[in-house]
Amino acid sequence: MHNSTWIELDKAALQHNCKVVKALAPDAHILAMLKANGYGHGAAWVAEALADQVQGYGLARLEEARELRSRFPDARLLLLGNLITEEMIRECAALNTDVLIHSMAGAEQFSALPLPQKLNCWLKLNIGMNRLGMSADEFVRAHECLAVSANCGQLIHMSHFPEAEDRDKAETELQSQRLLSLSAGLGKYPCSQANSAAIIAHPNTHREWVRPGIMLYGDDPTCSLSGAMALRPVMHFKSRVIALRDVGPGEGVGYNRRWRASQKRLIATISTGYADGYPRCAPDGTPVLVNGQRANLAGRVSMDLMTVDVSDIPRVQVGDEVTLWGDGLPAAEVGQHCGTISYELFTRITSRVARFYY
Ligand SMILES: *Cc1c(COP(=O)(O)O)cnc(C)c1O
Repeated sequence: MHNSTWIELDKAALQHNCKVVKALAPDAHILAMLKANGYGHGAAWVAEALADQVQGYGLARLEEARELRSRFPDARLLLLGNLITEEMIRECAALNTDVLIHSMAGAEQFSALPLPQKLNCWLKLNIGMNRLGMSADEFVRAHECLAVSANCGQLIHMSHFPEAEDRDKAETELQSQRLLSLSAGLGKYPCSQANSAAIIAHPNTHREWVRPGIMLYGDDPTCSLSGAMALRPVMHFKSRVIALRDVGPGEGVGYNRRWRASQKRLIATISTGYADGYPRCAPDGTPVLVNGQRANLAGRVSMDLMTVDVSDIPRVQVGDEVTLWGDGLPAAEVGQHCGTISYELFTRITSRVARFYY
């Protein structure tokens, strides 16, 4: 192993997590969310690993759709809504992706174009996030426009929850009903509502298509799955100890000597920094595993290096393995220390970090 910082990606864990989705939502099709390079895990690798378990893939950018289409000529792809020009819609047709329509203007633009073939349209209702999606009135008009459009293949009704992981479930149930009752009034159409949190916490939102993202990658946003249903981390972010030194009482460590030793301590320098995607904002005390045991970040994360207090871990040596997140240390826990979530940590791993798929 020549790399000083790397990620290991565990296919068996990914497939296990997808089986958990299927066990929770046995009657739904699965649209695996692969946006942002499969939440940083490698979109093509994830798509390949899940090919037998899911019915489609969700992407956020045309570039992502292009790349995936070149590898998977027959896969069902949905491009989440950023179609704002006719050219983009034409490219979706060329790539044969499903499209997301989130405004009346978008529905009119889509149906007015000459397209070589029909595309499936996912019609989005705003149920509370106020980010993308239509009001109920607009949704009905867009539905009527697309239902008679020669460009529209299958019509799917969808919405996205702002807070399905909330312990208070009433609001999500109410938001779910907004889509389901509106959809029922228009006929019998497939519906798609559930992200990971709703797949786990709101079974009555599963309907025809579920859209798991983070749970595929091993983070349970509801912190409620356990036993055989517990999710397994797919990404293991690893590094090595490259130097060790004693620091005496009162001495500082790292830029601005943010961390100070109150007594004699042993500091390990690790060859990972914010240029690898480890968050610079990580405060002192953020956990790190050294030889599988917990140690605390001590001092500011720098570009290529970080420093950890390993005084309480026996026999640490230069070359020892470090886990920044993965088995034994959930990314979500590191995120909590840094004021962020596993999603952001996963998607921020940079290109210089070596990847090992196994
Ligand atoms: C990203 C995304 C999801 C998946 O959300 P998770 O919380 O990662 O499960 C589902 N639907 C839409 C529209 C998304 O953008």
